[in-house]
Amino acid sequence: AHLDRIGAVDEKVHAFLHVDTEGALDAARAVDERRAKGEKLGPLAGVPLALKDIFTTKGIPTTVGSKILEGWIPPYDATVTKRLKDAGIVILGKTNMDEFAMGSSTENSAYGPTGNPWDLTRIPGGSGGGSSAALASYQAPLAIGTDTGGSIRQPAAVTGTVGVKPTYGGVSRYGMVAFSSSLDQGGPCARTVLDAALLHEAIAGHDPLDSTSIDAPVPAVVEAARNGNVKGMRIGVVKEFGGEGYQAGVMQRFNESVELLRELGAEIVEISCPSFKLALPAYYLIAPSEASSNLARFDAMRYGLRVGDDGTKSAEEVTALTREAGFGDEVKRRIILGTYALSSGYYDAYYGSAQKVRTLISRDFEAAFGTVDVLVSPTTPTTAFPIGERVDDPMAMYLADLCTIPSNLAGNAAMSVPCGLAPEDGLPVGLQIIAPAMADDRLYRVGAAVE
Ligand code: GLN
Repeated sequence: AHLDRIGAVDEKVHAFLHVDTEGALDAARAVDERRAKGEKLGPLAGVPLALKDIFTTKGIPTTVGSKILEGWIPPYDATVTKRLKDAGIVILGKTNMDEFAMGSSTENSAYGPTGNPWDLTRIPGGSGGGSSAALASYQAPLAIGTDTGGSIRQPAAVTGTVGVKPTYGGVSRYGMVAFSSSLDQGGPCARTVLDAALLHEAIAGHDPLDSTSIDAPVPAVVEAARNGNVKGMRIGVVKEFGGEGYQAGVMQRFNESVELLRELGAEIVEISCPSFKLALPAYYLIAPSEASSNLARFDAMRYGLRVGDDGTKSAEEVTALTREAGFGDEVKRRIILGTYALSSGYYDAYYGSAQKVRTLISRDFEAAFGTVDVLVSPTTPTTAFPIGERVDDPMAMYLADLCTIPSNLAGNAAMSVPCGLAPEDGLPVGLQIIAPAMADDRLYRVGAAVE
């Protein structure tokens, strides 16, 4: 049924870069066989899923939304891919994304933009817009995203779906193409909080193949999603997220959610996190710096595209020609910015200062979580904007992640859950919930309460 739905609507939505019809049908049959043999399977066995094209999939193309990996077929599965398969989850295909997960609208994909199913002339968020659009257009009930600065939560917010960035280290990065390794985190996307929790449980947990994977039990997210009781919880409203630059309808729905939480028995406290205003500039030094190092591996020798290899050019020339042709404008911008920020003489002024800001942001969170159990804010300052509106203005594009970036810098857990439609445009609004590291279960408790 989901493959039929993809056939019927994806020409318009363009959520998928690759649909694995045969593989999906085989996987579905294999689940039936495992069941017939009496194997006890998890709650998501047989449920279809859309996988962001940043996770390696053995034998299935993985492009990361880039021309530089066009035609590359990975010889191995990412840990997330493997865990999905082990759980009997059926992978329908790979979803569209901003190239190398750099963007907030999916317009930076080398394979063309994805439409927001609520209004196809608008963006579905980014970088994981393909995954969120697949959910919102009922092409898949589950999806996987990655969140370096907001790429799971921001698309969830603007498509009226649920997206969770687990605690950094909660879900393995093995086989997840690296953008900014100290920030990247894979996580679940779904249409309900409970679905997201079930998927979270299927993919999370320690992985010896990822050196930053946390070796501790996965927080009890499913139990929390089933509970949804916020009575007696202390919930902090981040003072710095709101006011100028925020759409009126977004603030209205956010304030209503806070009132709902109060009615449900939570204690609401206003919290100030003064360093959060420095998060965006710090992020746009740290993320490009790490990207400039990570993307050095795309040298035309190891993977995918190779341009100008006619026997007359040096290896350096082939590398240069391939990178010129294979990387898009935003990726080049980040490599140049990151290389500059890391160069000797500028390192302390830029990268060093950004790392100090990162510590200040962590301290703001620590102080806040000394008083409250979770923090809440709007996920995004505005609802989905029109395709094309911000493509020529990187700064305007970067603002879409104003509220999501602090949690990546600090490594804690955060969720976006739908909280109604903005009255002025009828488009979805997301409520962001932020919890301390390894307290991911609190997100699901609060998310289930407001859902
Ligand atoms: N929009 C942010 C960026 O462009 C975040 C992307 C992400 O989380 N992958 O870097």
